[in-house]
Amino acid sequence: MIRTRFAPSPTGPLHLGHAYSAITAHDFARAHKGQFLLRIEDIDQSRARTTWENQIYDDLAWLGLTWDGQVMRQSQRAAAYSTALNQLWEAGLIYCCTCSRRDIVQASSAPQEGLSAHHTGPDGLVYPGSCRSSIKDRVWINGAALRINISEALKGYNSVTFKNIESDINRPVFYIKDNLQMTDFIGDFVVSRRVNEAAYHLAVVVDDTAQEITHVVRGEDLKSATPIHILLQRLLGHPTPTYMHHPLIRDDAGKRLAKRDDAKAISKFRAEGASPANIRAMIGL
Ligand code: GLU
Repeated sequence: MIRTRFAPSPTGPLHLGHAYSAITAHDFARAHKGQFLLRIEDIDQSRARTTWENQIYDDLAWLGLTWDGQVMRQSQRAAAYSTALNQLWEAGLIYCCTCSRRDIVQASSAPQEGLSAHHTGPDGLVYPGSCRSSIKDRVWINGAALRINISEALKGYNSVTFKNIESDINRPVFYIKDNLQMTDFIGDFVVSRRVNEAAYHLAVVVDDTAQEITHVVRGEDLKSATPIHILLQRLLGHPTPTYMHHPLIRDDAGKRLAKRDDAKAISKFRAEGASPANIRAMIGL
């Protein structure tokens, strides 16, 4: 059975870009007699707000979208994230990193032998590897972040591959990132900001598996993060769904919409008298 999901972060109003993701994932599931699930990605408790969460339920209902089963909330999933982190730790794939952002910038501007060259990836500057040697200490430092040792993680494979829906929704094509691209442009990514504070990449993978998602539908801005998710699924022994990264809805100046772009908020169009059909027409669905 096909299962899709919509996974907004309650850190601002839903705008036309969110409507595009939610409607596409919903309609795809319904067209295949599958299920559409909702997950509130409130893992960053410093930014999540209940008012935005309530507005999400309200906007989705107004758009005519219904979801199946219970809503999953990341703020209640700490135990599942910690099981996954322990699994990676026991496998010797993650290490403690005490670098500040400043340390990373400094180390990147003065590359040393054995450390990665200065590149940027989905999370900004690719980590130069300064703390990587701490992996042998096997000590979990309180307050440290946890990073994947990407070279260890890639052992035994040549590339990271996933099925990606491009032009034909029923015929996904293979998307491939070879190991060199993974080490140079992704590097040792963070899986936990501190002990018991899972990072987005880990949470999204653990939750997509728990919700048994078969098709992840989301914006193109997350396409560069997808190889990270595939690698984590492989390391954790989870299945890999099919992906679909839809084009981003842009503002009139061609810039992609951000949470703060209240001008394109669904609630604003609602207040001005737009109908759900008008919203669909605006985004071409
Ligand atoms: N929570 C993310 C967002 O609101 C989406 C994550 C995902 O779809 O994987 O941008």
